[in-house]
Amino acid sequence: MTDLRPYINHLKSRTPDGSACFYVVGLGRSGLASATALQAAEATVMVWDDQEKSRQAAAAKGFAVVAPESVEFKSLQAVVLAPGIPLTHPQPHPVVMQAQAAGIEVISDLEILYRAHALKGSDAPRFVGITGTNGKSTTTVLIAHLLSEAGMNVVCGGNLGTAVFELPDLSGDGVYVLELSSYQLDLCHQFRFNAALLLNMSPDHLDRHGDMEGYAKAKARIFNNQTTNDAAFVGLDDEHSRQIFDVLNSRKNQQVIPLSVTTRVAEGLFAVEGQLCDDRFAHRDAVLDLGELPTLVGQHNHQNALAAYGICRFLGLDIQTIEQGLQSFGGLVHRQELCLRTPVLRIINDSKATNVEATARALGSFSNIIWIAGGLAKEGGFTALKPLLHSVRKAFLIGEGAEQMNRELSDSLPATVMSRTLEQAVPAALAAAGELHQQTGECATVLLSPACASFDQFKSFEARGDHFKALVRESLKEKTKGDKA
Ligand code: ADP
Repeated sequence: MTDLRPYINHLKSRTPDGSACFYVVGLGRSGLASATALQAAEATVMVWDDQEKSRQAAAAKGFAVVAPESVEFKSLQAVVLAPGIPLTHPQPHPVVMQAQAAGIEVISDLEILYRAHALKGSDAPRFVGITGTNGKSTTTVLIAHLLSEAGMNVVCGGNLGTAVFELPDLSGDGVYVLELSSYQLDLCHQFRFNAALLLNMSPDHLDRHGDMEGYAKAKARIFNNQTTNDAAFVGLDDEHSRQIFDVLNSRKNQQVIPLSVTTRVAEGLFAVEGQLCDDRFAHRDAVLDLGELPTLVGQHNHQNALAAYGICRFLGLDIQTIEQGLQSFGGLVHRQELCLRTPVLRIINDSKATNVEATARALGSFSNIIWIAGGLAKEGGFTALKPLLHSVRKAFLIGEGAEQMNRELSDSLPATVMSRTLEQAVPAALAAAGELHQQTGECATVLLSPACASFDQFKSFEARGDHFKALVRESLKEKTKGDKA
């Protein structure tokens, strides 16, 4: 846990009554971790959550639960807000309005982490920030893997799952690799990233940002406060990110490095026919072969690999070390997770693909696909997947959305089976993959990429993916037994 004592003492020395008082609002994992870290540093901490159950849990841990109407906002250092709580849209939470009326800052746990480390001067760790609409988690974990394989002292967290105050405390030789959502960026004010990345942007979370402009503005905050020693990496493959690149590039406050998987970019990093080309750090084409990376398959993953390469080069890694790290990257669970690869059969768990856009990426990344899909359908239907179904040889449909998928897609699929459950779908899909290999002599890919939420049959996409993997293991065991008999 980060030791906040020097930071809190610094704050106390600057207030007339020697106090440092925080109001932590939203008591999920990161809220509780913030309250714990602040209290351990002898700040005065009050907490609140609109949910009775969360308040009771916090009170049981010994925190002072204080309702907003009883808080003297003017006496606070800051409100520490959970990113899930509306700051501006659809309307600010009442606590936000009260803080604003009193002229009190509303910040995130990340912002406190940064401010506490910034006080250390030359002994402060470095910060890498990653945002974008898709690919944040993959790229965050990949960068952390590459840096750690190079022997650096690195931790990753943020939006990824581990609250920042649960991460080990780092000093001058360390690097924090942090995934940031647009909500978290809205709550960062002084944060300065040594290297910051905006991977891509497509409409998302517009309810919380009002419109695309508001969303883009929040994403662009990742580059605030950077100086000429810092680097801004920006994907150029969508219109919204390109606009942000143009603004940064004209201001030149920091080093601005473009990335593209669709076109050559001068002074940047790009991919041509699966080759990573570096016109920034190495000034040469074909630095490494992205097509050879076992767990980073598809153009979207090449975007992630390109960005990770760039950031690691900026932080001083050489090409060979990065190449080895890219090769050894295990991938993330539930995101095109490679469960098995033999010359006959490849099994992929992409349970995190809870929408059509994510499944489109997976369908475009593999050939000879036996596809398991379905679950709780989201708005917009499935017809956008039609142009990508040419690699699918047979589809096994599950969950509530199976009927709708069948209606909308079956005329573009060679064969469709209404399996209803994963228990039905998995053994049948594995058998179909075996037949496909026998017919074509090529490797068949069993792909779970549902294009639907999981909540009709599972607690979460993680539970769905874990169940898929358990059923795969069971079916393969049964098959081995059958083969031996
Ligand atoms: P995030 O953390 O932004 O949600 P993940 O790395 O968890 O991103 O990936 C979520 C889904 O998006 C996965 O199904 C994955 O296949 C897809 N994806 C990963 N990287 C990209 C990318 N660069 N562009 C578009 N889609 C991506």
